[in-house]
Amino acid sequence: MIVAKFGGTSVGDAASIDRLIGIVRDRTADRPLVVVSALARVTDALLGLGPLVHAGNGGALDAAVHALVERHSETARALPGADAALETIAADAAALRRELGAALGRMLRPDELDALAGRGELWSSRIVAAALGASGVDATWVDIRPIMVTDDRHGRATPQMTALAARARECLRPMIDAGRVPVTQGFIGATHDGISTTLGRGGSDFTAALLGAALDVKRVEIWTDVNGLMTADPRIVPSARTLRYASYEEAAELATFGAKVLHPATAQPLVRAGIPIVVLNSTRPDDPGTTIEPSAELERVGDSPIRSISWKRGITVVNVRAPRMLGSYGFLRAMFEVFERHEVVVDVLASGEVSVSMTVEDRSRLDAVVRDLGELGDVWVEDGRAIVAVVGIGIRSTSGLAHRLFRAVAPANVEVISQGASAINMTFVVREEDAPGVVRRLHQEFFGSC
Ligand code: ADP
Ligand code: ASP
Ligand code: MG
Repeated sequence: MIVAKFGGTSVGDAASIDRLIGIVRDRTADRPLVVVSALARVTDALLGLGPLVHAGNGGALDAAVHALVERHSETARALPGADAALETIAADAAALRRELGAALGRMLRPDELDALAGRGELWSSRIVAAALGASGVDATWVDIRPIMVTDDRHGRATPQMTALAARARECLRPMIDAGRVPVTQGFIGATHDGISTTLGRGGSDFTAALLGAALDVKRVEIWTDVNGLMTADPRIVPSARTLRYASYEEAAELATFGAKVLHPATAQPLVRAGIPIVVLNSTRPDDPGTTIEPSAELERVGDSPIRSISWKRGITVVNVRAPRMLGSYGFLRAMFEVFERHEVVVDVLASGEVSVSMTVEDRSRLDAVVRDLGELGDVWVEDGRAIVAVVGIGIRSTSGLAHRLFRAVAPANVEVISQGASAINMTFVVREEDAPGVVRRLHQEFFGSC
């Protein structure tokens, strides 16, 4: 048994879905479970309906929903047999239009946003299941929501592993054992009460891993639009090279610091069973991709001491300066309690004698965090920043690395530097506008090309 997950660009249009059919047909002997994302850019388009609802702009809302239905219709009509999915999609889009119409003039609640965002996966999976079925594969569309049980933290729900594993084994395994190919949705789930949730943006990879762990599959395949995990984002560094193997830890670090190719939590459910993740390019299905597994032999890329560079924009640095921190204990605990209370995640932290700098990505509760931190010391916030992370093996023990690194980063100004306890990464903060140049210069320095 394997899980084969196809991202947005791998189901973006009829030609991509046609390639998906070929890939799945080639794997029927492996007994695949197919997980799909929404068609490329559809989740963004769905979430873009929220502001139209808030503005009470019924006309624009009609047009936008119509355009989404058209996009799905066009895709399905170009695939033999897939138009069978269109009636369901059109009926659901009409239901969506009514739901949104009833909310005109107000902001959508988090649970409503989840019900909205999840439509993309529900619709794409209908098209893929119909197209696969018409190609002769015994495909069965499965609604993942009753299986993917989560808590009710809308927009970033946490899956409940024990419940979902039991349901996956109960519902999906018999189907697969009977030779059928379930086609289901990434990204979405539901609470115990059946209220729709989502696992956070890019969450379909996480779905694939959760189902892979639940079913104890042989491997989880992540089909995307690049050749695997690369030495840098190929959109920034066109000459980036593909890593043939990676470790779970390395993949998680890269993903946490911006390598969008994998959701940061993907490896997590697979660690205990040691199930490999293989990242593959759906436009070049014969390429080996990147295999992420515990026993991976991590080869050096050329003679470079590092393996990859990732970066993430939209970062805010929160600084706290408190002279009373000097020689006192309990300060950091008090500070982290503030972040915990407001459920704000800190990615990078650097601390001096009387000051601490932390990076956060989610600004939605920042005002409350800053207000509460103000009771501990002087607080100031800098936005428009980016994190750059250099990931490698034994980075901490490589002499002269920091010197090379900062020479390559110059003339950009480095603001927060942190070397994780993991010894495999070094992260720092620069201004957002400097980041692409910094990544390219680092790639030139460490991999000899940009
Ligand atoms: P999907 O829709 O298949 O989930 P994503 O857009 O989420 O695909 O992720 C794939 C993209 O990740 C690539 O197109 C690439 O631009 C980006 N990316 C960023 N960093 C890396 C990296 N280190 N290696 C590979 N791809 C990366
Ligand atoms: N469609 C969702 C998103 O765009 C989930 C995913 O693609 O993984 O975030
Ligand atoms: Mg993705």
